[in-house]
Amino acid sequence: MARETPAGDLRLADLTKRFGTRTAVDALDLTIPQGSFFALLGASGCGKTTTLRMIAGLEQPTSGQVLLGDRDIGRLRPHQRPVNTVFQSYALFPHLDVFENVAFGLRRRGIRSVDDEVNRMLSLVQLDGYGSRRPAELSGGQQQRVALVRALVNRPQVLLLDEPLGALDLKLRRQMQIELKRIQTEVGITFVHVTHDQEEAMTMADTVAVMNAGRIEQLGAPADLYEFPATAFVANFLGQSNLLAGVATGVSAGDVAVTAHGARFSVPVGRARADHGPVQLGVRPEKLQLVGSAAQVPVGHQHVAGVVTDASYVGVSTQYLLRTGWGAELSVFVANSGTSTRVAVGEAAVAHWDPRHAFLLPASS
Ligand code: ATP
Repeated sequence: MARETPAGDLRLADLTKRFGTRTAVDALDLTIPQGSFFALLGASGCGKTTTLRMIAGLEQPTSGQVLLGDRDIGRLRPHQRPVNTVFQSYALFPHLDVFENVAFGLRRRGIRSVDDEVNRMLSLVQLDGYGSRRPAELSGGQQQRVALVRALVNRPQVLLLDEPLGALDLKLRRQMQIELKRIQTEVGITFVHVTHDQEEAMTMADTVAVMNAGRIEQLGAPADLYEFPATAFVANFLGQSNLLAGVATGVSAGDVAVTAHGARFSVPVGRARADHGPVQLGVRPEKLQLVGSAAQVPVGHQHVAGVVTDASYVGVSTQYLLRTGWGAELSVFVANSGTSTRVAVGEAAVAHWDPRHAFLLPASS
């Protein structure tokens, strides 16, 4: 990078971007700790790329600040910021070989002896010996890794990744997710990764921010977001969730009591975001178990009865749909461990769960 800046947390303060009357990013306040792997996760059009482009300096904010440590970098031109970006398209120079693609940034800064650094970088992404190849002679995953070290070679303080794995097939994407995480740990700089793929965000990032309509719905460690989502949007975005509409009637002995469809349930206070009024009781499909009748439900578990309307074998598990008496459809994932109950389509069954695995949201969420 052209300038040395003190390292620090990346902070977005009241950052807003409007395109005409459309608000793409809406007063974002966010601190991304130095050295963390941070993911901005959201559906197409929620404002992820615009946020990234404002950090990179490729888009001017309508208002708000981009700070690195104590320094406002919002007025710096893109090449002056200690920030680099890896795009989905890789954007490698096709006429240069791998070595020269990686060396490009170093040479531009006037550094003459680049061999050691370029080789170190190629080694970091396990591309030793590939220096003389042209990009066209590499696989998609290899091109992606060249793009990554080309962005890292200038030692930015923040690396922005805009759907960098989007063009790879599923198997390669999984490999690269693990690879990217390893590289981030090794180089220790802040990674800000934009994706619409919840599994990708959860696999790699220390912290995930779920974005919706230009705002952050919830921010936290992947397991916390998944296990205890703050809103129905987050619950649904991070995988399947079964949400039962009900009414919370108050707290007793550390549990919130809920009435739903004529039955009574409870959720521990620590897993409830509401304790009275209209609520949604959520249970993830893998936290549900299936048995043939209510008599088989373990003591302390809660249950819902229904009829199995679908059973899909997907290798590690069988995914059932259970239609309840009031017409809701619950997803139940049963591990194919060899000991699990098998239920045929059309049969009556009971889904049960440990209340400590449920969560409660206000209905308005
Ligand atoms: P995707 O995953 O599809 O890239 P995204 O979450 O990155 O989506 P953005 O590209 O940040 O979303 O776009 C946010 C909103 O701003 C969208 O409604 C988009 O149409 C709008 N938008 C983005 N760039 C412009 C632009 N240059 N002019 C007008 N509207 C824009």
